[in-house]
Amino acid sequence: MSLLAALRDAVGPANVLTEGDLSAWERDWRKRWNGQALAVVRPGSTAEVAAVMKACAAARTAVVPQGGNTGLVGGGVPDMSGTQVLLSLQRCNRVRDIDEANLTLTADAGCVLQALQDAAAARGLLFPLSLAAEGSCTLGGNLATNAGGTQVLRWGNARDLCLGLEVVTAQGEVWDGLSGLRKDNTGYDLRDLFIGSEGTLGIITAATMKLAPLPAATTTALAACGSVADCVALLKLARARLGAGLTGFEMMGAFPLELVGRHFPTLPRPLPGAAWTVLLEQSDTEGEAQARARFESLLEAALEAGCVQDAVVAESLSQSQALWQVRESIPLAQAEEGLNIKHDISVPVSAIPAFVEACDAALKARWPGVRLVNFGHLGDGNLHYNVQAPAGADGARFLSEHEHAVNQVVFDEVARYKGSFSAEHGIGSLKRDELAARKSPVALAMMRSIKAALDPLNLLNPGRVL
Ligand code: FAD
Ligand code: ZN
Repeated sequence: MSLLAALRDAVGPANVLTEGDLSAWERDWRKRWNGQALAVVRPGSTAEVAAVMKACAAARTAVVPQGGNTGLVGGGVPDMSGTQVLLSLQRCNRVRDIDEANLTLTADAGCVLQALQDAAAARGLLFPLSLAAEGSCTLGGNLATNAGGTQVLRWGNARDLCLGLEVVTAQGEVWDGLSGLRKDNTGYDLRDLFIGSEGTLGIITAATMKLAPLPAATTTALAACGSVADCVALLKLARARLGAGLTGFEMMGAFPLELVGRHFPTLPRPLPGAAWTVLLEQSDTEGEAQARARFESLLEAALEAGCVQDAVVAESLSQSQALWQVRESIPLAQAEEGLNIKHDISVPVSAIPAFVEACDAALKARWPGVRLVNFGHLGDGNLHYNVQAPAGADGARFLSEHEHAVNQVVFDEVARYKGSFSAEHGIGSLKRDELAARKSPVALAMMRSIKAALDPLNLLNPGRVL
């Protein structure tokens, strides 16, 4: 039997797509990678995923798993060869169980993140993972990329929230590792091997995730700081005063906020003129009034200490949402401004002020007039440190001529401060060469042995990560 016939047998002919417009699966979200699949295959259950993997293994055909296709490093779309099977998990989208006493949710990998947040909220519970792509990205993709987002400061990234996995191996076996246990020291942690493996070690088909009680209130505040060091001082103060109530701490430079003002003029601009603006989010078990009072006393202390120059506390949920909208509009505003060179880096929080100063200076010395779109999850030491062409210059041309050199300047500074050149978005195909160049040879050798052990035929997402 031919592979296509075997795939049709496995998932039904209607779920093996080979014709028509397949760009929703073959082109990535940023429209940076265009691929051509042998077929787009859409299984509806774990058993069907296993049957697809068995058929592909028998035919020695490569498989690219895909969830919501919101990944930013070119890891979830096929190459141009027309020989890879695109395995979409979107039809595996059932919430299997919510265990209120155990505070866990078990769901299929293709569930959209927002649907899981809603399912938990309907039971008065919080599904703590949250990111701007939540309307499209899937649980499986979140785990395969170990996604972060805006709540990592309090809840950790996808890895920290995951208790168990169900995985289909490269050979088409099903590993049922779905467990709601918070304590289980029985040998190597296979779960953690698959989290962050970007589809190169196995197909995640379901997961058991931690939940938390829904907070009674969530409020935000904005603070104007004179320097990055002041933002870090404010973080220390906020942690000391709000403890686990501090659930978000986002830093935004003046230039990204100027871009938001230019391209989204109807959005609020509450602290104009600030060199750095911090968005703080607090979640409270008591209520809104208490949360606001705690914010006010924190910000008074920060004004007194001199790390904050001005501040506002949101007065309503809709004001809070408007402030978040400003933060979340930065990626769109910079896209309106033209192409730029994107970075997703992390360094220890304590090193952020020195890193920003040194890296800004190194870039401006080599490319005078270059503009820095610097914003991100300061509480996690993670910055989206993007480099925009000088005003008036052609962004696309700047990108094509200088991207590699700009990356080397930024990544060398990151290395100097013992940071990571990919904090959130992973490696995919975009950063594969960087990984080979910058990861220790010992680490690379161990990664290659794991890959060879689990996927000896190199069928799962070949050419990605390693
Ligand atoms: P896809 O894009 O479909 O796939 C991503 C990778 O995972 C690919 O390598 C794919 O092969 C693999 N994969 C997907 N599903 C499976 C599976 N079931 N089993 C095995 N491998 C699989 N990321 C962050 O970390 N933090 C952010 O704040 C953030 N914000 C974003 C905002 C926007 C607007 C966008 C577009 C993206 C953002 N991202 C962010 C990146 C992206 O959304 C996340 O990486 C997300 O977790 C990817 O999920 P997905 O379902 O879309 O995966
Ligand atoms: Zn981010």
